[in-house]
Amino acid sequence: MRADRRLALCFLLWLGAGLCHGEWHNDSQSIMGTEVSVSLWHGDAEEAGAAIAAVMEEMHRIDALWNPDRPTSELYRVNAGAARAPVAISSELTTLVEKALYYSELSGGAFDISFASVGRYYDYRAGSVPEADQLAQALPAIDYRLIELDSEGQLLAFGHPAMQLDLGGIAKGYAVERALDILRERRIVHAAVSAGGDTGLLGDRRGRPWMVGIRNPRGADEADVALALPLENLAFSTSGDYERFFISPAGQERVHHIINPSTGKSSQGITSVSVVGPRAFDTDPLSTTVFVLGLEQGLALVDQLPGYDAIIIDSKGVVHYSSGLVE
Ligand code: AMP
Ligand code: MG
Repeated sequence: MRADRRLALCFLLWLGAGLCHGEWHNDSQSIMGTEVSVSLWHGDAEEAGAAIAAVMEEMHRIDALWNPDRPTSELYRVNAGAARAPVAISSELTTLVEKALYYSELSGGAFDISFASVGRYYDYRAGSVPEADQLAQALPAIDYRLIELDSEGQLLAFGHPAMQLDLGGIAKGYAVERALDILRERRIVHAAVSAGGDTGLLGDRRGRPWMVGIRNPRGADEADVALALPLENLAFSTSGDYERFFISPAGQERVHHIINPSTGKSSQGITSVSVVGPRAFDTDPLSTTVFVLGLEQGLALVDQLPGYDAIIIDSKGVVHYSSGLVE
């Protein structure tokens, strides 16, 4: 072999070894009341560990900001004061509330972070629901049009004395998106981050797509998968009525954590909604929105959003797809 060819071959072998060198690094922790998992490909174990630690730290930071039950959180401060006077908020919370209001308007109020005005009276562990007078008093406070956001001034005020906000339908998607930004900054190109039902994917699984499963809503556990999708470089969010629920002793009704803002009660008709799209910051609120809108209206909404698709499992177990997945 000529010297220059030998040199070229050596270079290719070196390049190949460099690209292939590495392994998967995984971790999962319980944060934000859910399971946060990170899986990434890296050639350097120390840097991989530092990247995973940075993601977990970001998840803890977001939990500390917006956990409504922590007296030190920004959201707690807002809920405690915004009915009396405008409360100064961070630019980050301004962005989150803007996004939430966008989905409220798009859905005619199916998505509404002020659901918590009534939602705060549910205790799924204890199996308790709001008293009739609590519901009557707090239901008018679920109204996104009474969330007074001054984006320029970064101020938030409530137009109803019983209003409370909760970001449980949107903060995990935001956190996943932030995690992917952190990994991109560290030049990681193959990774999956999930927080409960919200997943963000960077690249593929090295030559193969990631397989993302949709749980059988009435299966014994998450290992019982109804269907799986091959995805790469996309976000994926599932909202299901099996996440937090109890069965009411009276009517055998499933009381769960996704609230229909017009009734203050659990949204019925659908058992699971998965939304695929470019960003978890959108697929997260969208999956909750579609769950509340129901089958027909939910699919119609997704069909009008370019780049987004949905898979819905109804209460009879029938699977429905948005038109982008069947055409
Ligand atoms: P997800 O699992 O993303 O569908 O979000 C469910 C969470 O969203 C619940 O646990 C609540 O914190 C919150 N949520 C429930 N109902 C609504 C609603 N109608 N609009 C906005 N957020 C909601
Ligand atoms: Mg969601």
